[in-house]
Amino acid sequence: MKYRKNLTHVLLSVLAVGFLCTTSFATETDSKKRELDVYYPGTEELAADEMRVVACGTGMPSPRPKQAAACWLVELGNGDKFLFDIGAGSHERIAAQRIPYDLIDKVFLGHLHVDHFGDLGSFWLGGTTMNRLTPLRVWGPSGPTPELGTDYALGLMKKMYVWDIATRKDLIDMRGAVMDVTEFDYKAVNKIIFQENGVTIRSIPAIHGIDGAVSFILEWNGLKLSYSSDTAPNKWWLKYTKNSDISIHESFLPPSLMVTKMKFTPKEALVVSTIAHTSPQQFGKLMSLTKPRLAVGYHFQNDFDTQPIMLEETRKVYDGPLVFAQDYTVFNITKDRIRVRESAIDEAIFPEPAMKEKIEVPPLTKPPFSKYISDGVEAFPEVVGPIWDKINKQYGTNYTLDDI
Ligand SMILES: [Zn+2]
Ligand SMILES: [Zn+2]
Repeated sequence: MKYRKNLTHVLLSVLAVGFLCTTSFATETDSKKRELDVYYPGTEELAADEMRVVACGTGMPSPRPKQAAACWLVELGNGDKFLFDIGAGSHERIAAQRIPYDLIDKVFLGHLHVDHFGDLGSFWLGGTTMNRLTPLRVWGPSGPTPELGTDYALGLMKKMYVWDIATRKDLIDMRGAVMDVTEFDYKAVNKIIFQENGVTIRSIPAIHGIDGAVSFILEWNGLKLSYSSDTAPNKWWLKYTKNSDISIHESFLPPSLMVTKMKFTPKEALVVSTIAHTSPQQFGKLMSLTKPRLAVGYHFQNDFDTQPIMLEETRKVYDGPLVFAQDYTVFNITKDRIRVRESAIDEAIFPEPAMKEKIEVPPLTKPPFSKYISDGVEAFPEVVGPIWDKINKQYGTNYTLDDI
């Protein structure tokens, strides 16, 4: 059922991208050379000059089975991987990519709305249970006051999860429970915030909510990706994202649909769609002025009855290459070509094992159970003893319960 649904998404995407795909499919007469129309995560190596972008969240602050909140995975041919935003519900989309957790250690937050970093805690600490063995590195903007910046928010997050970390740190290798936060100036214009391994990431101010939101521009190997996170149309986006290879920008439902489908009042709908965010016509205007190789809209409930209206609105002002992304839409980008497909997701995917070697956990440091709680243990030695004996025999070890 899920597979069939994803095939439907493929057809919708092909329709949406229109002429863009024509050149890709027109010459595929030899069935032996025919490329897969869907992407199976974990089965395709990237070429050295190729960028892959996976939509891991294209929806709204209240995630739904079909759409998590904002999250974009960018993978480069040099092996680097980046997450831009990590909204509520996106962690399982990331896990579905079959990438070992210790290979995804860089997250860039556009702003501190829950639909843009709601799954950070889950990805950070849940990831340690699936073998993230290196610190998670997070970049995010400052705010108009220190209390409205990324350092403050994530400092509180670290405190919030003290119990979680305390319970695990003597049981498993928890080197991945460290979060390294880099806060940068939200007012900086096209300033470099990351530069490693041939990859440069810059930020520009965004206009969203209050001061302290940003958009990102990633450049690598002659390819340029722009990502809005959330913003109303602004002069920095127009100036600095021109000629992107892929330009991912929010495109909210138009006010009419926010009234009929979301029960917003007309005033709420007008303000939220066209002033706090970017309505599809405003999105189209931005794309017509910046002329990316491919424009990608997201951040709305993408369904059979909304996408035609989004297209109609956008096409009033923009006639270039366009995709309205669904969760798991995949973009393969080189200088010569952009392919757009949907993914065939296996819901039984098990996250990939770590690439790095685990280390033996250090001696006990966590507070012991109180007598009140430990008196409640039912040890079942007749069951547990043979389990330990079997593992010790299998791996040549000699652990006893006294070691714990
Ligand atoms: Zn927002
Ligand atoms: Zn948002």
